[in-house]
Amino acid sequence: MARAAKARIALATAAASAVALLACTPAQAASHPVAPSRFEPGSCILFTPTAGNRHLRVFIDAGHGGIDPGGTGTTLAGKAVSEAPLNVLVARDAAVLLRRRGFSVVLSRTGPNPVARPQPGDFSGGLYTVLGERRELVARNLCADLSHANIVLGIDEDAAASPQAAGSVTLYDAQRPYHAANLRLATLVQRDVLASLAASGHSVPNLGVHNDVGYGDLASAGAQAYGHLTLLGPPKRGYLRTPTRVPAALIEPLFLTNAPEATLADSAAGQEAIARGLAHAAEQFLDR
Ligand SMILES: [Zn+2]
Repeated sequence: MARAAKARIALATAAASAVALLACTPAQAASHPVAPSRFEPGSCILFTPTAGNRHLRVFIDAGHGGIDPGGTGTTLAGKAVSEAPLNVLVARDAAVLLRRRGFSVVLSRTGPNPVARPQPGDFSGGLYTVLGERRELVARNLCADLSHANIVLGIDEDAAASPQAAGSVTLYDAQRPYHAANLRLATLVQRDVLASLAASGHSVPNLGVHNDVGYGDLASAGAQAYGHLTLLGPPKRGYLRTPTRVPAALIEPLFLTNAPEATLADSAAGQEAIARGLAHAAEQFLDR
């Protein structure tokens, strides 16, 4: 398909763009056993609108980061790709689009750094320990909460044992008091991202919108007992004191373990298409 040459949309970082760094408050740091003492440089960043101001704020979490690459795969050209950097590119693209439409955006990550400043015991053998991964996930919730965002969006990519597995899925939590809003947001995200990918010439299988039970983020016993995604799920005594508090959805638009989808995920056109879908869904949700 012929595509007009187009400069990649880039996150404006000029002095005038009013970038603010949010810091973890002492009360927050004391609020949870694994709460970070502070965020890493480039993490938990508020971006003000670049045109107009709707006084609405969107929190976007780019999954993984730091020493956690997330899911990995190989493009059709044989290039190894991983989730963490691709998720940031999509989140940044979505931020640019939303800011142009008058929204403030808070990004959990803007680069390779993790969200939380790591602490002793967070690493072992070049990997996050259960504690370290937990701290990273809780840090995202704390950032979302600090940001007073109106909605929370999570961007990840999928991975599976079979290279044939393909398609987009969006998750929401059905146990929160505002589950109907979660479902509405997730439905918009799934629909708009698939429509945007299709409009860019890439039809992706629609794997649907699902509640997050059984999609828990960790292999630990505690995470399995919890059963939800930390970014979306309810509080649980002894496990999660700091749930997010506003409508939330997390999309996994492509499988990195599927070579054609990994190729799309690694392309600026694919990232921008996903970002356009996310931004459109957020705008539609918040306009009502
Ligand atoms: Zn992921």
